[in-house]
Amino acid sequence: MSRLASLLPALVFLAAGCTLLRAAHAPGPLAAPERLPTAAEIADAHARDTAEAAAAQAAEELAAQAAEDEASGYDDGTGASDDDELAGVPSADEGESHDVAVPPGTPEIRYTADLPDAELQRMWKDSPESLGSISIGFTDEGRLVNGERFPDGDGWVVVDPEKSYATRETVEAVITAVKVVREQFPDAPPLRVNQISAREGGWLRPHKSHQNGRDVDLAFYYPSAEPVRARERERYIDKQKTWALLKALVTRTDVQMVLLDKRVQKVLYDAALKSGEDKGWLDSLFNGPTTLVQHARRHRDHLHVRFFAPRAQELGRRVAPLLAMRPEQNVRMHRVRRGDTLGGIAARYGSSVALLRKRNGLKSNFLRLSQVLMVPLMGPCTKCPVPPPVVVPERRLPPPPPVAAEPAPSVSLGGGAADQSAGAQ
Ligand SMILES: [Zn+2]
Repeated sequence: MSRLASLLPALVFLAAGCTLLRAAHAPGPLAAPERLPTAAEIADAHARDTAEAAAAQAAEELAAQAAEDEASGYDDGTGASDDDELAGVPSADEGESHDVAVPPGTPEIRYTADLPDAELQRMWKDSPESLGSISIGFTDEGRLVNGERFPDGDGWVVVDPEKSYATRETVEAVITAVKVVREQFPDAPPLRVNQISAREGGWLRPHKSHQNGRDVDLAFYYPSAEPVRARERERYIDKQKTWALLKALVTRTDVQMVLLDKRVQKVLYDAALKSGEDKGWLDSLFNGPTTLVQHARRHRDHLHVRFFAPRAQELGRRVAPLLAMRPEQNVRMHRVRRGDTLGGIAARYGSSVALLRKRNGLKSNFLRLSQVLMVPLMGPCTKCPVPPPVVVPERRLPPPPPVAAEPAPSVSLGGGAADQSAGAQ
């Protein structure tokens, strides 16, 4: 309740902000062609674009995704898929809401304050790699610039290296959490780090999100290094180590949310409670409308962890109006759908068939269903998705352990007097 109440002002602001943004831009004259659109203009254009396109595409997307998920049987690559959900049960699913609440008065530049605009522009123009990893757009409609492949290391196994590109912050967060677990359990088997993002982000089969280097699928810990390949994973996982992993993620890194089947949530919740964790804190993490861990279908065999990666996100936001300065980065990602043609895609994004073929190394005009294309744009993108400024909320930490009943003060007044007299000598 208090959590809900605390969210209200942010939601109200967001609604008000959108109205203001629209009011400010709706009657405005057309921008001079040589002027690059501001991030706010791009975001506004995207909001309108999204709203209009969303309704038209929703049904098609839903059907396509359902068919795909059905066919892929994806889990963490370790066994049976999870298909025993009741029909009609709502799930958080993997899509990220585009409505990210931003408190009023939040400065746009907060996590990249070391980079003044002119410096950022110079670096983007001359040496974009020096900026480090950049999360562009949203987790379900975005891409990744300067992503880092998750390194090999002691304590984890990278299951699918070519699909394990991430922001630097994401990599560091996962490694931090694994190290915490191994300090606690030196005998812990290596953690399986599953898919993160493609090298340049964009749609990654079979996920809806995982597009800009901030979503990681982490396997559970099992009694052995080899995962138990049974559907009811919650019966076989190492509860203590898996809880330790989740706790480390939540308390030591900036996690935006975790997707996890409610049956696994229950097992971890019970184990945590039994080990003495604070119930109120656990309730703020598990199985509620505003909890950090949310139920989602097909998440019975892994933790889907979304990190804020605030620096990469903020760079993405600030670089958005500068994309046209680097033609090779002035692209949209497009996932080929039934009926798509190169000509149609070129027309839709204001690109050309020649550019599309060149950028994607296509030897013919033949397209595969669900193929991901980089679409080179011929001018500044006014419809590219730009999220609002990122604001990392305070971490949800357990309350400090209750202070044990204090014994009577050991230093008596007499002792103090003796000290004083000793000091006087
Ligand atoms: Zn995932």
